[in-house]
Amino acid sequence: MIKVNENFLKLKSSYLFSEIAKRVKKFQEQNPNVSIIKMGIGDVTLPLPPACIKAMHCAIDEMADTSTFKGYGPEQGYLFLREKIAKFDFQKNNIDIEPDEIFISDGAKCDTGNFQELFSQTIKVAVPDPVYPVYVDTNVMAGRTGEFKNGQYKNLFYLSSTKQNNYLPDLPNQKVDLIYLCFPNNPTGATIDRNTLQKWVDFALENKALILFDAAYEAFIQEPNIPHSIFEIPNAKKVAVEFRSFSKTAGFTGTRCAFTVVPKECVAYTENGKPVSLHSLWLRRQSTKFNGVSYPVQRAAEAVYSPEGKTEVKQNITYYLNNAKLIKNTIQNLGFHCVGGENSPYIWIECKQNSWDFFDFLLEKAGIVCTPGEGFGKCGEGYIRLSAFNSKENVEEAMQRIKNIL
Ligand SMILES: *Cc1c(COP(=O)(O)O)cnc(C)c1O
Repeated sequence: MIKVNENFLKLKSSYLFSEIAKRVKKFQEQNPNVSIIKMGIGDVTLPLPPACIKAMHCAIDEMADTSTFKGYGPEQGYLFLREKIAKFDFQKNNIDIEPDEIFISDGAKCDTGNFQELFSQTIKVAVPDPVYPVYVDTNVMAGRTGEFKNGQYKNLFYLSSTKQNNYLPDLPNQKVDLIYLCFPNNPTGATIDRNTLQKWVDFALENKALILFDAAYEAFIQEPNIPHSIFEIPNAKKVAVEFRSFSKTAGFTGTRCAFTVVPKECVAYTENGKPVSLHSLWLRRQSTKFNGVSYPVQRAAEAVYSPEGKTEVKQNITYYLNNAKLIKNTIQNLGFHCVGGENSPYIWIECKQNSWDFFDFLLEKAGIVCTPGEGFGKCGEGYIRLSAFNSKENVEEAMQRIKNIL
């Protein structure tokens, strides 16, 4: 008899986006003349930078010619891309990361989801609340949790991010082994400063724990006291792995390219306490289960680091951040408490009522779609997320509508 992995049956059905779609569809059917503005989007809206398009076109021409055709690429990704990443994302900021510590992949979603495969079944896992659901669900699938009850899984340690702690979770008051952190945060848009991040690194060093640091929104950071990489923190290379992606940075959500940094000195331990290199384990895992990102896409990603690419990426980020500023100012002027929007495309808004009720209110009164916070976890109850991934015109129209009803 073929048996299922019953851990999958523990997964809470991810009803958030289907429930949003259902409510929007019903409203549109009953109000065919209202033009709905989607402010819940977690996806970029601007096209790829011209520098990336140009590089991809050239690479495709190379694929058409016997003398320049490429088959399978190197296991960790092409060196031309890893060298650019090491130089411009790390070494330029005095962070000592070498090209062979970088693994190119087709997404930070799969990397943040797959990395837990390297660890024992019995480790204690700490996840943010509210959370990017990938961290939680992949640990559920792997069997590291109990049942889902009262909005949380048994056996997981939840790092509450609330108004009280300024959306920066306290250090765990018990031993945990694997810690997921995401800054600038999705969904709250909150950021962490160097001193606070140092405390997490110290905690990991003291507890022989590991931090998985998701920096998918690094490109949105504007303020100088916010670290772009966890490896800016002394000794972090022993206890942290960092995930980055070209998705939000350069509009690669549909093109697919990301990378994970696993420092050579980063270790986990055997049952007997013997250190094992995570770099070798991740290389073994990736070269067994993954055959790399296509050559044209890696060339397109390389173009992000060209002078034109850098300028174009910066322009797109500025465009989204201007949207975010308008959203934040409007919401704050209406007397709402919110966080994010300055170094992040997301604004996390306290709605002082049930988040689905507020969702319905914005939809029915203003034709605006938001994301109800409780879809991201228990601490998201009473919040909504608005996204700056939209056209300026749509955001202006949406803010005018909100001013008219609130
Ligand atoms: C969008 C996003 C990613 C990026 O995912 P890709 O698979 O690279 O597109 C990673 N982490 C978070 C928190 C995100 O919001």
